[in-house]
Amino acid sequence: MRIALVGDIGRYALHDGPGIRTTVFFKGCPLCCPWCHNPEFRSPFPEVAFYASRCIGCGDCMPACPEGAIDMERPGLIDRNLCNGCGICVQVCPGRALELVGQEYEVESLLEILLRDRLFYEISGGGITLSGGEPTAQMDFVGLLLGRLKGEGINTAIETNGYFPWSVFAGILLDYLDLVLFDVKLADPAEHRRIIGVDNGVILANLARLIELRPDDVVVRVPLIPGYTATEQNITALADRVRALGVKRCSLLPYHPYGLSKAEHVGLAVDSSLPEKPLGPKEVARWRQFFDWAELVEP
Ligand code: SF4
Ligand code: SF4
Repeated sequence: MRIALVGDIGRYALHDGPGIRTTVFFKGCPLCCPWCHNPEFRSPFPEVAFYASRCIGCGDCMPACPEGAIDMERPGLIDRNLCNGCGICVQVCPGRALELVGQEYEVESLLEILLRDRLFYEISGGGITLSGGEPTAQMDFVGLLLGRLKGEGINTAIETNGYFPWSVFAGILLDYLDLVLFDVKLADPAEHRRIIGVDNGVILANLARLIELRPDDVVVRVPLIPGYTATEQNITALADRVRALGVKRCSLLPYHPYGLSKAEHVGLAVDSSLPEKPLGPKEVARWRQFFDWAELVEP
């Protein structure tokens, strides 16, 4: 696959691996974490984000929509069942209240953008991080891109949910990766299925294989989500599990409500049990103690 759907490209990122980085957010993720901080990249299709605060109510978008998906009386404006993501409404909106999330790139056109900041990567020890969504959901393209980046001598990292076919990942991605930021969330398989929608057996098996091959190049990341992952039972079990696998480096990702409003912009339901405030430093310090055997890497 030589074309990928990309949700965004973030330049000058400081938290997605070492140094100054450019982060590519691929569209599409097979998991459905209620706390997702990038819910606008979950769908594998282009979609329109609506920002009510910028809408001047002119109504220009309504007749422009070929699918009749826009209703000025409707909260959120867009009927997501009718919208096909064509983006015509975005072009006519004078208030920039509508934005298309998802743009197609060929490997070469994306590479050209990513190499623009090569100097920053070189002076800071940075590089490129592939994120999402889930980058391995577009594995063929990502393999081609990583191969080209390595050919250019660029440091590469991937942020993954770990839910991928191991043979494909190991066959076409792993050799081109300097760092794997690997998320684990819930230890209990039934809870993982119930809350996130897929089994965690595949994820933990992939982590075990990865640690066996590249123990120094993996950081296990644990999101600290009140009421979901940040419970004594889950954190104890997760910490024990990844320690037993031989994981050396971990990173704890404190909950932030940032994703909630982003979900609303693309018409996704928001989990009302999630707090409106970020997780405080005291809580984070508490959970860090469970990982005192690991090198804790700042997110
Ligand atoms: S993206 Fe296309 S189909 Fe969707 S609301 Fe806009 S104009 Fe209508
Ligand atoms: S065109 Fe833009 S500003 Fe005008 S009603 Fe539609 S969303 Fe609002």
